[in-house]
Amino acid sequence: MSKKQNPFAMAQSQLDSAAEILGLDPATHAFLRKPMRELHVTIPVKMDDGSVHVFEGFRVQYNDALGPTKGGIRWHPEETVDTVRALGAWMTWKCAIVDIPYGGAKGGIICNPKELSMGEQERLARGYIRSIGEFIGPEKDIPAPDVYTTPQIMAWMMDEFSKLRGYNTPGVITGKPVRVGGSLGRHDATARGGMYILREAAKVKGIDLSKATVAVQGFGNAGQYAHGLITELFGSKVVAISDSRGGIYNADGLDFEACVDFKKKNGTVVGFPGAKGISNEELLKLDVDVLVPAAMEEVLTAENAGDVKAKLILELANGPTTPEADAILHKNGNMVLPDFLANAGGVTVSYFEWVQNINGYYWTIDVVYQRLDEKMTQAFHDFYETYKAYKVDPRTAAYLVSVKRVVEAMKLRGWV
Ligand code: NAD
Repeated sequence: MSKKQNPFAMAQSQLDSAAEILGLDPATHAFLRKPMRELHVTIPVKMDDGSVHVFEGFRVQYNDALGPTKGGIRWHPEETVDTVRALGAWMTWKCAIVDIPYGGAKGGIICNPKELSMGEQERLARGYIRSIGEFIGPEKDIPAPDVYTTPQIMAWMMDEFSKLRGYNTPGVITGKPVRVGGSLGRHDATARGGMYILREAAKVKGIDLSKATVAVQGFGNAGQYAHGLITELFGSKVVAISDSRGGIYNADGLDFEACVDFKKKNGTVVGFPGAKGISNEELLKLDVDVLVPAAMEEVLTAENAGDVKAKLILELANGPTTPEADAILHKNGNMVLPDFLANAGGVTVSYFEWVQNINGYYWTIDVVYQRLDEKMTQAFHDFYETYKAYKVDPRTAAYLVSVKRVVEAMKLRGWV
């Protein structure tokens, strides 16, 4: 596998392809290839043993032509600024495709949260916000949870920012617990948003989802909710699921509640009664109608893409398909529903959370679902029109929609 490409170089090369098709002028293209602003901070934190540890963090605001920037904060031992830059670029395209009034950003702290006590995590969260406080705000840049950051961490960060401002400011950050200004429906928003994309894609492809078979790779937040929702909303049959230890298959379908219970008790889905054990690699090549990669990046590659049988591939994971695999799948007629479109439900409900915070008026769950449906459905059709018009692969089509929108805003503002 072509692992460990520099993610920022990859993000730039994806933009380059879109820029060429759109015939972007050199200045606009050059501006979009780099983040507009980035801040590097050092954060001293008093540890439980009395020592002080100095952590390193970043906040990258990639492009704010469409509105204040938006993007998660990652806590990871191998965090790099290039990863954060790439993710900031991808957030820019993700917000643009669902047409929410945000630019893209990302933040990160190099740390291993598994080695930090709750007290140390709280001091780190508050220290990070003190370091970047001038740089963010509800009108400027709105962070959210990401790898290894939780609703509790968002609550501490919101509280620290509110102290800096001198008044309660829930709109500075999303993904908060509901009691302190979080939105209903945030927990399964990524998978649910993906369902609306899948429903629309099935319509244009003439696939009857009530008779469809599905394989889901990954049984975490994204994958688990996808399993439950595909069954609940469409009556499709999920015949295979997996986690990092392996997969399971049953041609008659896998009962969602029973799988969740089994995973809770055993820490894995492997060994689920009545199902055959399969590998993660075998799962990707199953003869199913829909494949949902919902675990990790670069699982569909030049080596296995030719063996994929699913007609629709719903990318809930970020970056599950390599560029080589994209080309093969496109040639073979397997339609990839690209990650920054398919998994944009999370950021869309984050946007709803911010709107509710600013208005001080909170929506019912039905309103959240209905507005999420409207946003995702519109996004799919905007994407699909471009896909048909330009006759390019689906990922390129999604890029064309987003880049055009950001460029239009930059031109209207008179930047380029
Ligand atoms: P998670 O940690 O909750 O779950 C990940 C799942 O993948 C786990 O079941 C794990 O066992 C499994 N897994 C790990 N390594 C694997 C492997 N080698 N083969 C098969 N399965 C493996 O993570 P998540 O939040 O569900 O995120 C999954 C993907 O979806 C990531 O790419 C993430 O960036 C993307 N995503 C998630 C959200 C969200 O709201 N949770 C939003 C956008 C994108």
